[in-house]
Amino acid sequence: MLNLPRRLLHGPGPSPVPPSVLEALALPCIGHMDPQFMRVMNEIREMLQQVFQTDNEMTLACSGTGSAGGEMLMDNLVEPGDRCLIGVNGVFGGRLAEKARRAGGLVQTVEADWGWAFDQDEIIARIDEIRPDLVALVHAETSTGALQPFDRLAEAVHRHGGLLVMDCVTSLSGLPVKIDQWQIDAAYSGTQKCLSCPPGLSPVTLSERAMHKLQNRQTPVHSWYLDLTLVGNYWSGSRAYHHTAPVNMNFGLHEALRLVLEEGLEVRFARHQRVHERLKQGLLERGFQYASDPEHSLPMLNLVRFPATVTDEAGLRRRLLDEFDLEIGGGLGKLSGKCWRIGLMGHGAQDENVDKIFAALDAVLPAV
Ligand SMILES: *Cc1c(COP(=O)(O)O)cnc(C)c1O
Repeated sequence: MLNLPRRLLHGPGPSPVPPSVLEALALPCIGHMDPQFMRVMNEIREMLQQVFQTDNEMTLACSGTGSAGGEMLMDNLVEPGDRCLIGVNGVFGGRLAEKARRAGGLVQTVEADWGWAFDQDEIIARIDEIRPDLVALVHAETSTGALQPFDRLAEAVHRHGGLLVMDCVTSLSGLPVKIDQWQIDAAYSGTQKCLSCPPGLSPVTLSERAMHKLQNRQTPVHSWYLDLTLVGNYWSGSRAYHHTAPVNMNFGLHEALRLVLEEGLEVRFARHQRVHERLKQGLLERGFQYASDPEHSLPMLNLVRFPATVTDEAGLRRRLLDEFDLEIGGGLGKLSGKCWRIGLMGHGAQDENVDKIFAALDAVLPAV
């Protein structure tokens, strides 16, 4: 068998996986059409509805990582020629724009400085100007640590007949994601951030309005694998075979969701916030500076500039990994080499983990 170290995962994902989720992954495999597996799928849907805070019937775990869920939504909801408005203030917004383009959308972007959120009024003004068929933004930009408010956008999107799409890969179960209250039409997440399950599935949810758009498409969905009508028939309805579900990954997600709901969403959000504040205070004491908008920053992803005494940031991260089994993230895209990204996601958002991060930093940081 493989022999691997036990890492402390405090980068931008994957996050630490609780033992019972690992046990669920190791359960005996059963058939993907077995009635017992159908039961597992039904329970996953019900638990996802609670975590997404929605009654959406079309709620399921797309086979593939978070990127697959984003592609599923863009491929199904964008028709060639659709006007799309995409918010780009980091790497993941850029990817959404690219996916919408590849689905045939006429994409316009609205941009903000990396680390900063969009002012909703600014987005609403662009929506009224462009009248887009689809608007997509990233709720928690993992490349920059910015938190995007979403509560006021839907009304403007809907008055022009468009759909509002959200990337909540990093926020789901670490911050409030209120699909129904904010009237989000489609959202996707991933298992390996705050859900604390290994990478491999992408929870998605779609409103009636989004389903209406899908059912009235003039052109077939370009991707066969991610065609939501086909995948949806497997998750409910006729249960027709489409592709073989990654059975054991779904066992893992089932257990991860059960743990989230057992803890309670509000308690979990508060835990992420409290542990983030503990980390923040200790980082500031050690000469780090936060590099994202203090008014709109994420608890589960801390974007920081390292102290001036640090000259070889990549070498330092390598030592943290080699000597302390501690993984923290480097900067992504244009922040590469300039910032660190310290994740406190899901099972990793614990006081004792923060203490281990501080102990490791104190051992490797150059003296002032
Ligand atoms: C991680 C992440 C993704 C992509 O998910 P993968 O599981 O890496 O495919 C998309 N959006 C955001 C905001 C993310 O943090």
